[in-house]
Amino acid sequence: MSLQAPRGTRDILAPESARLRALVDAFATAAELGGYGQVHSPMFEQIEVFQRVGEATDIVSKEMYQFRDPGDRHLALRPELTASLARAFVQHRPALPWKAWYEGPQFRYEKPQAGRFRQFNQVGAELFGSDDPQADVDVIALAWRFCTGLGLGQLRLVVNSLGDRADREAYLAALAAYFEERAGELSAQGRETLSRNPLRLLDSKRPADRAVTSGAPDIEDYWSPAAAEHFAAVLAGLEALGIPFERNPRLVRGLDYYRRTAFELASDALDGAQDAVGGGGRYDGLVADLGGPDVPGVGFALGVDRLLLACDAEGTFPAPPGAAEVFVVDVTGGRQASLLAEELRRAGIRVERAFDGRSMKAQMKAADRSGARWALLVGADELAGGVVSLRRMRGHEAAEAPESVQSRIPRGGVVEELARLLAEGAAEGSGS
Ligand code: AMP
Repeated sequence: MSLQAPRGTRDILAPESARLRALVDAFATAAELGGYGQVHSPMFEQIEVFQRVGEATDIVSKEMYQFRDPGDRHLALRPELTASLARAFVQHRPALPWKAWYEGPQFRYEKPQAGRFRQFNQVGAELFGSDDPQADVDVIALAWRFCTGLGLGQLRLVVNSLGDRADREAYLAALAAYFEERAGELSAQGRETLSRNPLRLLDSKRPADRAVTSGAPDIEDYWSPAAAEHFAAVLAGLEALGIPFERNPRLVRGLDYYRRTAFELASDALDGAQDAVGGGGRYDGLVADLGGPDVPGVGFALGVDRLLLACDAEGTFPAPPGAAEVFVVDVTGGRQASLLAEELRRAGIRVERAFDGRSMKAQMKAADRSGARWALLVGADELAGGVVSLRRMRGHEAAEAPESVQSRIPRGGVVEELARLLAEGAAEGSGS
């Protein structure tokens, strides 16, 4: 059998790859407008970085790609980036508040399905060093501004608070007691989840589990006054910015380190099982768990692949234009095409050409397929006369002057003339 990309991974070719890059660029712009600076961190870490932050989490206990390197170091491909950034924070101790954004692939050994891969891309941001509810609002506003800026209209922001560490522990105990009394009514998988982490039962989608969870205790009854006050301030901050949200006391998120604020962005344009485009929350205590000072933090990650699926479903954020603007057809051997293409490319014009000394007809066909607006033709006559022929391609003719389909221009004036024509075309295009 021929070699294939590993299960759960895929190659992303143009034009989709250009769209992915444009999305990351848009995120970079949004994050940097908010004062977040980019961090590049390694794709693999000492395994303890992830183990210390969430042994009860599936992502860490079951889904991590781990290996020993030839130096016998136990390493893991990163399943997420918050832990890596907390590790980087402890290592470098940047000035506070530290506002960082990132992008790149994550690795999880999950069951592949639509919108769920074993290698997938995320963009995200973290704000370390503030427990002000306005910091929560700052990161949520970034996620919201970026997603709506992509043209997504069917987004829902769902928010909850998981209380402080002690609140969460008291709630967890109450939840475990409640579920254990009703273990017989849970699904077999639900019972297994209960033994590992009762919180995760709350987002079980299995009907038997849902029937039981509907009567489960509410986290709100376990909030400390400080946690309740923090959450109220976050909600007031979102309201002040006109960011719509829904409250859901059952929202717990998959990672164990969240304290107080937790949120998720879901798209109604996506299939229900895989409708989360991202999420995040506050993780006070995480930095200390990694051996650093007790510095609070709040952040989020968005799934790039899911965001693009949501954009597809809403018909927004198309691939940026990648088509050539000019195609050089050279039937004198190819040297002229080489010279002209390079000259035009140095001037910032997107140029294609053919190789292998193909016939005029074959080259014109390639020019047609390329989507170029203009073809430059070099034949023996043109070469001898120091000119090139310029032809408007089919579909790009000027309605008012169809006779001007082909003209000749001096070889020395090609760059200037094409720059002028392309600028004119762009102005016409934007005016229509
Ligand atoms: P998490 O890091 O689990 O909070 O996930 C944040 C976002 O990353 C999710 O809402 C998804 O959009 C995306 N994501 C998580 N896991 C996967 C996966 N296996 N494949 C594709 N996207 C994913």
